[in-house]
Amino acid sequence: MFAALFARFFQRTDRTASVAASLWQAVEASLPCLAHLNPEERQALREMALDFLDHKVFSGAADFEPDNFARLSIALQACLPVLKLGLEAYAGWRGIIVYPGDFIIPRREVDENGLLHEYEEDALGESWDGGPVVLSWFDDPADYAGANVVIHEFAHKLDMLAGEPDGMPPLHAGMNVEAWREAFDAAYEDFCQRVDAEENTELDPYAAEHPAEFFAVASEAFFTAPDELFRDYPAVYRQLAAFYRQDPRKATP
Ligand SMILES: [Zn+2]
Repeated sequence: MFAALFARFFQRTDRTASVAASLWQAVEASLPCLAHLNPEERQALREMALDFLDHKVFSGAADFEPDNFARLSIALQACLPVLKLGLEAYAGWRGIIVYPGDFIIPRREVDENGLLHEYEEDALGESWDGGPVVLSWFDDPADYAGANVVIHEFAHKLDMLAGEPDGMPPLHAGMNVEAWREAFDAAYEDFCQRVDAEENTELDPYAAEHPAEFFAVASEAFFTAPDELFRDYPAVYRQLAAFYRQDPRKATP
């Protein structure tokens, strides 16, 4: 028993040291969305990221092989939304497919007249219910300024925990379904009007596609531009703070 305890202790203390401190620092420095985390939370995120890398299987697409920097960056960003929720939220699937830059998804849709339309859609990411997450990786963060593909796709994964994605993940005890609906419905309606009127919006206009996209894009903004999200949609911000159990506006030293 002593040996087992010692092994666990040793493994625990040694774990994040299995990645070079310089690599942790380089990856974290490239992720301003981690700014609100205090030192204990950063350590917990590193440990969760290593668990994530143990449980998920990365594969590259289009002759791309994600290197350690990319894997660690994706793991940290994927774990950020579930830092206070636990990695179980991502259970039941393993694959993460990484493309170098954006990619094409062939689509087939039948319209209201029964006519089949086949087209190709440019995509930055895609999540499959019970299946893999597909992501684009950009070496230069300037290439995807304003967006966080990883948080976006993993927000869809959380939404899928409650069935068909509709912009409402399973809420915690103590959260109010009506308050969530009211906050998101009003914000979505306002946002769609602003996009229709071709106003400049802080959130990506893609959020107007569907309430599930609005939730995913609002989740990106919650972590990457929390002040702007709070300014535009404070009720949505508060619901997301209750759901993610984090408050990125409060940067703690
Ligand atoms: Zn989406």
